[in-house]
Amino acid sequence: MNILVINCGSSSLKFQLIDTKDESVLAKGLCERIGIDGRLVYQPSNGEKKTTEAPMPTHKQAIQMVLDALTDAEGGVIKSLDEVGAVGHRVVHGGEKFAASSLITDEMLKAVEECNDLAPLHNPANLIGINACKELMPSTPMVGVFDTAFHQTMPEDAYLYGIPYTMYEKYKVRKYGFHGTSHSYVSKKTAEFLGKDIKDMKIIVCHLGNGASICAVDGGKSVDTSMGLTPLEGLVMGTRSGDIDPAVIEFLAKKENLDLAGVMNLLNKESGVYGLSGVSSDFRDLEAAAKEGNKKAALAREVFIYRVVKYIGSYIAAMNGVDAIAFTAGLGENDAGVRKAICDHFGYMGIEIDDAQNAKRGEDTLISTEGSKVNVVVIPTNEELAIARETLALVQ
Ligand code: AMP
Repeated sequence: MNILVINCGSSSLKFQLIDTKDESVLAKGLCERIGIDGRLVYQPSNGEKKTTEAPMPTHKQAIQMVLDALTDAEGGVIKSLDEVGAVGHRVVHGGEKFAASSLITDEMLKAVEECNDLAPLHNPANLIGINACKELMPSTPMVGVFDTAFHQTMPEDAYLYGIPYTMYEKYKVRKYGFHGTSHSYVSKKTAEFLGKDIKDMKIIVCHLGNGASICAVDGGKSVDTSMGLTPLEGLVMGTRSGDIDPAVIEFLAKKENLDLAGVMNLLNKESGVYGLSGVSSDFRDLEAAAKEGNKKAALAREVFIYRVVKYIGSYIAAMNGVDAIAFTAGLGENDAGVRKAICDHFGYMGIEIDDAQNAKRGEDTLISTEGSKVNVVVIPTNEELAIARETLALVQ
């Protein structure tokens, strides 16, 4: 079956058409600047990448363009939309309502809408994408795959904040966690790759990209993760601050004469390694600047690494041990120096990195030495494939 995977943001939309027979990608691409002007980048597996500038006033036009490209007589990869067996949609926040992926029905969409408060930037955009797709493909089954669902197994002591319990009862303020599709995919793949049963394993997954989070996976279940009510908590990220003293918010509001939205913008968009370095949110730029003697760029990298180390250490304690540490996402998969620097902090517990293995790229790789007490692996994540698998399982 061919499954169309859609990841819809407020002004962009990424897509992949996956043939579940062999899990190959038939075509992929993205629509950008929806509601502004509009650009479709379309890459069929058997042809050249094509960029088309065309007006996309709404997501419906954007999705229509994607469907037209997929079925186009020249660059298309299918003859008609009948060849799309199902659509899998990424949905950011499922609150406590969704502990697993779900078939999209009117009732389900109402429940997602009720989570909008928890992810006001993401969920409404996801819903717009789903509704536009439903209008254009009314008889095709669709599935929502949630970033939060995998973390619904966290125990209360991990997900509750130390604030009045009534805030949880009234507003469901708690840790939810994100990147669940990636943490689930990578932890399963880690166990498979090491030839072990995930039920017998304690795994720490480090999803280090522009957005970054860490997850403690015990026996295949998420037992703690670094992101919280929103993706702002936890690691120092590309432009997000991660953990800070909550009192910083009031302090900065007063000193910088900012309202709440202004401080939140500062913490979400102007902080992280970008804010620390004043150079870039991209680690390649930081490394280049550090090599040229930029001390703040070097410091931003060190602050990032230190925070990752603290989280790994705390999850080893939380699970009372660890069998494998997995690195994934843009930085986790590509930056051997960052991986090495993180792992060197765990020499005391017998973790040892094989430098030659650590230099490899683009494939599942064991980067720890034979004698290392803990297996350290690099597992490229594939959230689209994970969404396609979840979708297939529900529509079959
Ligand atoms: P993601 O959000 O998973 O797409 O990751 C994007 C981030 O990964 C970028 O902002 C970079 O910081 C990092 N990244 C991607 N490629 C490399 C690379 N070759 N070396 C170092 N960092 C990289």
